[in-house]
Amino acid sequence: MKVFIACLGTETNTFSPIPTGYQTFAESMLFDGDASQQPGQLFSEPLIEWRAMAEAAGAEVIESLAAFAQPAGPTIRAVYEGFRDRILADLTAALPVDMVLINMHGAMVAEGYLDCEGDLLGRIRALVGPDTVIGGELDLHCSITQAMTDAADALITFKEYPHIDGRERARELFTLCHAAQRGAVRPVMTVRDLRMINTWRTSTAPGADIVAAMQEAERRNDILSVSFAHGFPWGDVPEASAKVLVVSDDAATAGTAVAEDIAELIWRTREGVNAPLPTVPAAVDSALAPPEGRDGPVVLADVADNAGGGAPSDSTFILQHLLDRGVRDVVSGFYWDPVAVRFCFEAGEGATLALRIGGKCGPDSGPPVDLEVTVRRLLPEARQSFGSAVAPMGRAAWISGAGIDLILNEARTQVFHPDGFTQFGIDLAAARLIVVKSTQHFYAGFAPLAREIIYVSAPGAIPPEFAEIPYQVFTQPYWPRVADPFADDAAT
Ligand SMILES: [Zn+2]
Repeated sequence: MKVFIACLGTETNTFSPIPTGYQTFAESMLFDGDASQQPGQLFSEPLIEWRAMAEAAGAEVIESLAAFAQPAGPTIRAVYEGFRDRILADLTAALPVDMVLINMHGAMVAEGYLDCEGDLLGRIRALVGPDTVIGGELDLHCSITQAMTDAADALITFKEYPHIDGRERARELFTLCHAAQRGAVRPVMTVRDLRMINTWRTSTAPGADIVAAMQEAERRNDILSVSFAHGFPWGDVPEASAKVLVVSDDAATAGTAVAEDIAELIWRTREGVNAPLPTVPAAVDSALAPPEGRDGPVVLADVADNAGGGAPSDSTFILQHLLDRGVRDVVSGFYWDPVAVRFCFEAGEGATLALRIGGKCGPDSGPPVDLEVTVRRLLPEARQSFGSAVAPMGRAAWISGAGIDLILNEARTQVFHPDGFTQFGIDLAAARLIVVKSTQHFYAGFAPLAREIIYVSAPGAIPPEFAEIPYQVFTQPYWPRVADPFADDAAT
């Protein structure tokens, strides 16, 4: 048996002002055929699993490119086509192969391509013909399209947000595709469009209940896999909404019934998912009068400026508000500001300077903040933990001014873990407020030290008001913009 593996993806925020070019891939993740032999990252870990399982099964593994970019705006056409064509050339050279396993995000847009995954999978199918098994793993923040399900034999998305199950889903996909390759099963995919735009966290109900229901359905003999593709709200593409995807063993009727059941559960619990978030002044009011009974800082999550959703991570709305109110003992990060980082490195540790911070990428970043700061510590290669993986932060500076400690960095990333701050020597427990630019991935690391966590609706590039996202390409009626998107007269 011959197995071909590769990875190509990013999560494209079509509203982001940041172009995704070659350098963004090079800084985020770019391996030339050896990703599975290197320390794992979220989007290379599936390749590590696939190689191990394929070799254990006695297969020959041909590994191509593994390229993944930190989410931002659409990928430059030549960059996407270059990576895609490299994978296709490697595949052509390897033919015939029995199985192709591709790790993707599922919400990648490039100039001229609104559905990069559908394009890539379609071209792979055209090369390998109908008999080779094609499997794809996807982030759950993906848009499942007709082109993708037409081309692949099986698609499986992460079940968990935070994404803690990438390796587990990779093993499932290998097992499923290997069984299909042997003729032991015949995967048939069924998709149910939910016509919803939302985000679901799976660490608590109702997200956790939806995961449990999917796992229960997977215990049936005729159901091979159940995925809930949450969709990516800030990707303006024709098939943007959330969907349930069931892979049955040649049992489309049973697959449709399971998809209906899961869809019904998701619809029934919709109002409990995302309560409206407080504005910046309201959130800071709450944070300054925290509940009794627990020590520690209050954590404010600046969800609208999460680099993981393609936002710049340099917005200043919360920072300016805290300065205006004179709030002290604040720690905040990470501000993506290569210019300010450069100034800090030029000035050196201990220097005091007038620094212009953030607000540089576009209108959604707000105005820059001018502040007299002291450079406390400089790290040439800062990094933070992300599950079992390590996420680079690039050159980074800890600066203090007006009672506020900030981390500025060069490699744009959301906050995943407290060690992104404590590596500088910052004592988080001594802070009154910690402001993190992240939507959810920060949660596991910060919850144990936080007195309270408050998600804030600040302005930004990924605003959480889903009814008001200014879609141009996605024209289908959806909840919450309309109460019943399946009604005959529903219209956006
Ligand atoms: Zn995701």
